[in-house]
Amino acid sequence: MCTVGGAPTGDLNFDDDRVKGKRYRCNECEEKFSHINPNRKPVCPSCESDNVTEI
Ligand SMILES: [Zn+2]
Repeated sequence: MCTVGGAPTGDLNFDDDRVKGKRYRCNECEEKFSHINPNRKPVCPSCESDNVTEI
């Protein structure tokens, strides 16, 4: 009850759009997805197009 900093519960409960980089929408198929790695170009996971818009 008075324990703080015990087991890291809740780590898996974050919302995707809070922890996973920027959000993009594909201009080809309108798929919405998160892109984490800033060193790589965001590519639609659905149709693999790089014609995407940050949202
Ligand atoms: Zn797409």
